[in-house]
Amino acid sequence: MIHKENNITQIKSVLRQYLQENNLRNTPERYTILEEIYGMDHHFNVDDLYLVMMQKKYHVSKATIYNTIEIFLDAGLIRRHQFGEKTLSSSSYEKSYFDKQHDHLVIYKKDSGKEIAEIIEFCDPRIQGIKRSIEEAFGVNIDSHSLYFYGTKKEE
Ligand SMILES: [Zn+2]
Repeated sequence: MIHKENNITQIKSVLRQYLQENNLRNTPERYTILEEIYGMDHHFNVDDLYLVMMQKKYHVSKATIYNTIEIFLDAGLIRRHQFGEKTLSSSSYEKSYFDKQHDHLVIYKKDSGKEIAEIIEFCDPRIQGIKRSIEEAFGVNIDSHSLYFYGTKKEE
């Protein structure tokens, strides 16, 4: 728990520095939203985040959330995902500052007639190997990648 406290302090100082360097306003809402995101253990979209803020009686507009999300993305504090492949869905996000690199498996299933997607995170060291060989072959440094597998459960 103490560890977690330290983490959020560190995260907040990353944000503070980013806002300063980019001449952006240092508003308390931004820190509240950041803390909320770093308290979550799963992927979320803007609607989820808005709902959580409402339930906790923090009054922020959706516009503020959208705006803040863009700032966090640029500051490297969160990562954006597009989990929808079959259906056009809204972007999902997750905290990324301390996270180990991982990729995502999207499993489509029917839930009372409605199609939903279950997101599974996985980490396969072979992907690092692919990255290194691409770097060598093309003489580049790869900063990031995005990989999604989409599928359905096999029938038993
Ligand atoms: Zn993830």
